[in-house]
Amino acid sequence: MQEFDLVVIGGGPAGIAAATAASNHNLNVLLIDERSTLGGQIYKRVGPGFEVKDSIKLGADYLRGEILIKSLSKSNAEIMLETTVLSVEDSQVIVVTADNKYDSIKYKKLLITPGAYDRPVVFPGWTLPGVITAGAAQSLVKTQRVLPGSRIFFAGSGPLALAFPAQLSKMGANIVGIIEAAPRPGFVKIFRIARSLRGNLDLIRDAFFYQFHLVKSRIRIQYGRIIVSANGTDRLESITYARVDKNWRPISGTEKTVPADTLCIGYGFFPSVELFKILNCEMSYDESRGGTVVQLDEWGSTSLPNVFGAGDGTGVSGSYVAILNGQIAALRIAYELDKISEKTLFNLSKSIRKEVNLRKKFQKAINHAYAVKSGIYQLASSETIICRCESIPLKDLLPIIESTSDFSVVKAYSRCGMGLCQGRNCQRQVSALIAAKHGLDLGKIPGTTPRFPAKPVLLGQIADSSIRDEKYFIDEQ
Ligand SMILES: Cc1cc2nc3c(=O)[nH]c(=O)nc-3n(C[C@H](O)[C@H](O)[C@H](O)COP(=O)(O)OP(=O)(O)OC[C@H]3O[C@@H](n4cnc5c(N)ncnc54)[C@H](O)[C@@H]3O)c2cc1C
Repeated sequence: MQEFDLVVIGGGPAGIAAATAASNHNLNVLLIDERSTLGGQIYKRVGPGFEVKDSIKLGADYLRGEILIKSLSKSNAEIMLETTVLSVEDSQVIVVTADNKYDSIKYKKLLITPGAYDRPVVFPGWTLPGVITAGAAQSLVKTQRVLPGSRIFFAGSGPLALAFPAQLSKMGANIVGIIEAAPRPGFVKIFRIARSLRGNLDLIRDAFFYQFHLVKSRIRIQYGRIIVSANGTDRLESITYARVDKNWRPISGTEKTVPADTLCIGYGFFPSVELFKILNCEMSYDESRGGTVVQLDEWGSTSLPNVFGAGDGTGVSGSYVAILNGQIAALRIAYELDKISEKTLFNLSKSIRKEVNLRKKFQKAINHAYAVKSGIYQLASSETIICRCESIPLKDLLPIIESTSDFSVVKAYSRCGMGLCQGRNCQRQVSALIAAKHGLDLGKIPGTTPRFPAKPVLLGQIADSSIRDEKYFIDEQ
């Protein structure tokens, strides 16, 4: 079995930065990612089979990713792509490799940087073909150069609700409207954001360019409005939105319906915490960073020895913080494995930490301005499918929720959360319904208990074909 000083799970900004730094401090490093290219979400590369002739044309994020990936390739870190981590046990990472091999890899230190995924939002029609997450639309464009539709409407909240449509529009997409659930930022919010500008001018510059592009392209953002329904028979034909009250509840009588063949939903992200949970790391709840998050100390160390975390998978904080925290964790790991002295650890981490603090201050101001409100969990009607894997409508869940405040009980009685996504799409929605029904705090409702395999896998990929129990096989002769 192969053994490494450090195994990094996730080849996004956090994982790449950490693997590069650790390797440059003479650690024997392996970086694993399930995708066929490095870069994670923000620095996603074009897919295999494409040739990039001029990367400048692919935008600033693409170039930033290129620089990061180049520095990794100059290091001695080993990279395993198309390799999915299914679990972690006994200081071993359990994987299915690109050639469908089930394998385990030993580590002295483990850094988990699995990133985040789009926040699912449940409303009538959300499962119709044509309704996709903003991240999925972005992935189509980034990796395949394919536009998701020809009349694209965008509903979301936060800075990426500005960035996503602007990016799609720059690629030639026809954006027919954008709604933002939060109100137009007023003086107090702008003042708060302005106070945290130091060290974040690059983000303001990006936001300015996105806004400028939208204005130039005559794409209007309507504030204080939320998606109410996606309408159509076999696929999306139109969408209905409405004004919201301060809790993001639609105000009756303000609904408006517009034709669209694609609806992109972008209300933020949830951290991918499954591997931390499988390991039984201590977790907590922070709505502003996406909900359930792993508890980390100032070095990115979890409650378990030798297990570290960084990036959006530990709480959504953006790509800059992901890179910096990946570097801090790598330094700490190098120190713990006697590759650098305590003095070097503190000297090198000092300036990184300073930058993290400035970035986090800005992130906090943004999170405050665009805090998700409870109305987002109240959009479903009784016929709306809540668990899309198992096709379970709200009306089937309500009687169970009446009698329990435990998501696992709802799951056991209804199969909600037992499908391929293992609750990534429905669990928060059900927990919010439980919290509202029983007057509880959403953060206090225990979520799913992920188990092996952390990601869907084919049985043939994990079954050991050398083991044959003859009584289960029909003799073909
Ligand atoms: C869909 C989406 C789109 C985004 N778009 C933007 C944007 O346009 N602009 C912006 O500023 N920010 C964007 N963000 C936020 C930004 O991408 C993140 O802040 C940043 O990428 C975080 O870096 P990370 O390294 O923590 O995670 P990521 O970049 O998400 O990287 C995590 C990596 O881990 C891998 N991984 C996860 N689980 C496993 C597993 N079990 N086995 C193997 N590999 C695994 C994934 O394949 C992925 O490559 C986006 C986020 C998402 C989710």
